[in-house]
Amino acid sequence: MYKTMIKRFVVILSAVIMLSSCSEDGINFFTVDQDIQFGEQLDSAIMANPLEYPVLSETQYATAYAHLNRILGNLKQSNDLRYTQTFPWKVKIIHNDTVLNAFAAPGGYMYFYTGIIKFLDNEAQFAGVMAHEMAHADRRHSTQMLTRQYGFSMLASLILGENPSQLEQIIAQLALGGGMLKYSRTNEYEADEYAVRYLYDTDYHPRELAGFFEKMNGSSKIPEFFSTHPSPENRIEEIESVWREMGAKVGELYVDRYSQFKNSLP
Ligand SMILES: [Zn+2]
Repeated sequence: MYKTMIKRFVVILSAVIMLSSCSEDGINFFTVDQDIQFGEQLDSAIMANPLEYPVLSETQYATAYAHLNRILGNLKQSNDLRYTQTFPWKVKIIHNDTVLNAFAAPGGYMYFYTGIIKFLDNEAQFAGVMAHEMAHADRRHSTQMLTRQYGFSMLASLILGENPSQLEQIIAQLALGGGMLKYSRTNEYEADEYAVRYLYDTDYHPRELAGFFEKMNGSSKIPEFFSTHPSPENRIEEIESVWREMGAKVGELYVDRYSQFKNSLP
């Protein structure tokens, strides 16, 4: 009798999950604490692999980290973030000038390659990239994606008690991919939209995330940031329209301060 009820529950759940995977909406079966746990574990895996992820020492490059943490502090002022106090929000620099990329792990662990920092022109553009990564973490896109990919099989096995180590297997898989999660297009557009919202609550020019896309369009180098993201054309338009809807505020670029940041890198 009890088993039949569980089976029926699983059948209903599977129907719900299948519907949600079609609509790509924000259903998430994980807890906020699990986001933080996943982030911690991914961060440990990244720190344990200095050949692939040569993370700059925070004591040796204290000036660079002071700039990075100041920018994070500015963005954390935004009222549009949900987990400002809950998430650990850690920023790290990976020493590789040939990689034009940044990525976020759940719980607000974020990684910026020296390549992308050096590619950008001003602090507002870089803040735009950081805001985009913050949005992936704060909107909990990673665990949303995991819910879509593993939700049914994981819940079924957890409910039936068949495979308690499945969570650990997923973490191991994520760590192998270096936290480079493939988000959906919906997630990418949402991250852009929220990036503009976060920037709007600071004194940075909120449109500069689009400035970054425009700079990329005129460059012979195609940043890897875009190989894991949808094509930039419609995103410039979308960023532009969010910015206009909000009132088209013009903010600061901080060009000089940003070159000091770049000069503090190896
Ligand atoms: Zn993204």
